[in-house]
Amino acid sequence: MEAPSTETIPRADAAPSPSESGPFDVIVIGAGVAGLYQLYRLRELGLSVRVFEAGSDVGGTWYWNRYPGARFDSESWSYGYSFSEELLQEWEWPEHFAAQPDTLRYLNFVADKFDLRRDIRFHSRVVAAHFDDAADRWTITLESGEQAVARLLVTALGPLSAYTLPVIPGRDDFRGQAFHTARWPREGVSLAGKRVGIIGTGATAIQVIQTIAAEVGSLTVFQRTPNWAAPLHNRRITPEEQRRIRASYPEIFERCRQTSTCFIHQTDPRKALEVSAEEREAFWEKLYAEPGFGIWVGNFADVLVDKRANALASEFAARKIRQRVRDPAVADKLIPKDHGFGTRRLPLESGYYEVYNRDNVRLVDINETPIERITPEGLRTSAEDFAFDVLIYATGFDGVTGPYDRIDIRGPGGRRLKDDWKGMPRTFLGMLIDGYPNLLMVLGPHTARGNIPRNIEEIVDWLTGLVAHMHRNGLGRVETRREEVDRWVGEVEQAVEGLLFSEVNSWQTGVNRNVEGRQVRRVLGYYGGAVEYRQRTGAVAAGGYRELAFDAELAAKPQGS
Ligand code: NAP
Repeated sequence: MEAPSTETIPRADAAPSPSESGPFDVIVIGAGVAGLYQLYRLRELGLSVRVFEAGSDVGGTWYWNRYPGARFDSESWSYGYSFSEELLQEWEWPEHFAAQPDTLRYLNFVADKFDLRRDIRFHSRVVAAHFDDAADRWTITLESGEQAVARLLVTALGPLSAYTLPVIPGRDDFRGQAFHTARWPREGVSLAGKRVGIIGTGATAIQVIQTIAAEVGSLTVFQRTPNWAAPLHNRRITPEEQRRIRASYPEIFERCRQTSTCFIHQTDPRKALEVSAEEREAFWEKLYAEPGFGIWVGNFADVLVDKRANALASEFAARKIRQRVRDPAVADKLIPKDHGFGTRRLPLESGYYEVYNRDNVRLVDINETPIERITPEGLRTSAEDFAFDVLIYATGFDGVTGPYDRIDIRGPGGRRLKDDWKGMPRTFLGMLIDGYPNLLMVLGPHTARGNIPRNIEEIVDWLTGLVAHMHRNGLGRVETRREEVDRWVGEVEQAVEGLLFSEVNSWQTGVNRNVEGRQVRRVLGYYGGAVEYRQRTGAVAAGGYRELAFDAELAAKPQGS
């Protein structure tokens, strides 16, 4: 396995100066979409903030995931930050669904425009965060051993940043090039004419496979579980569309505020089981022909909650696969049998199924012929030896809690978050953790999630409001109240009742077969809807944060103020 090129860049700033170790008002971990905006907002309060980022530059997800074909599934014009009208008017998305290089360019543009880099320390992976109960301070430790101190700690780790490799014997024996998609080398990988193997068939693998199939010599796809997928229908944004988009940002973001997932798509009020077969079919054909997530989150109201409605939607999607894949046996392998349409996060594709009509592409079902080991030449299944030049692990992430598990986070008395979160996490609004004072999370467990930057902006704004409240009132410590956490966790658990996705293994339900202790499903998001989440969090802020406990006796003003 090759080391990620980005991690081999020499550190520019090896010796910490006093100003680098703090004390700061706030330390933020991560300089992705969330960390950048959090920095911007905290600076507005006049606080001293330091962001620590493992990568050599800004971007988070879009910094690390440079694999061929990486792009998002949100409409670009609904994905960018909404907080600055000037930024909205200055930036032009080239495509309706932007590719990774454009999104990374965008985040660099944002960092430059708002002069964010001066408070970000790169090449700085945080490995530990310990709370000093007497002083109400967090001390973070970097991989290098250096430390920094702050009153408040904000984690902007990203729900999908802890990538996982498959547990297969011999993984280090391979003599060719091997990469996890989340550590794709910065300089790119030449795949032309090569023999390539790829493990995984999730959203990431689908993008890689459809992008490289025509270029490589041969491509062998090792599939354990097929996923449902539907067409993305991406295209370039015309100048006329560009003009219209610029003029309608207020309406676009208002639309996102009204939907349950913050995408522009909203669930159709009709039920698949209550309309005629013709009406149902016509609607699904329409959705299948339209760009974006409409077919997932804009489908009939019962598709993701009623097994019979879901079975009909699955039948429709299966028929599409059979129409697009010539070999019926291959088509059958590509049709999921263990979960219904949309019950895992739906990958959107561009010509994915047609890839399997190519002579240089082969699908191997590893349920029939399991992978036995990685060999120096490639990979051995129970039936065959494969030789590869390049092996791609598109094997996903330890979602949501994984990034927290990888930092030694300790609260008062040395309690370890990793222990506390062995089962279901205990949070308040997904932003504060039971028993961990002064620790604030952006997109931790139990927040509403959908169109991520929309969720991030709302959470960061809420957290910034809380920090401002503390600052104004000279409060040095904030904690959750046990009964409020109980209540919130109860609401979170209630919100998933009846949702079909909660009965399926995926990163969204906290299952990762490559991670010890992560085989049991957990509720890791608030699925009661973004509107309801906004109302709930808004009410807490409007009521003066009565649900939280502030330690008035330790009411030292935040450091640096
Ligand atoms: P994923 O959906 O978790 O898929 C991982 C794949 O690797 C699965 O097919 C999994 O099979 C397979 N796998 C894992 N371990 C394996 C093993 N030991 N042996 C064989 N196969 C193994 O991960 P992902 O594709 O990286 O996507 C994760 C999430 O990232 C997506 O759901 C989405 O939210 C986000 N994403 C977004 C975009 C976008 O916006 N367009 C693109 C890519 C990713 P099993 O299913 O059997 O475990």
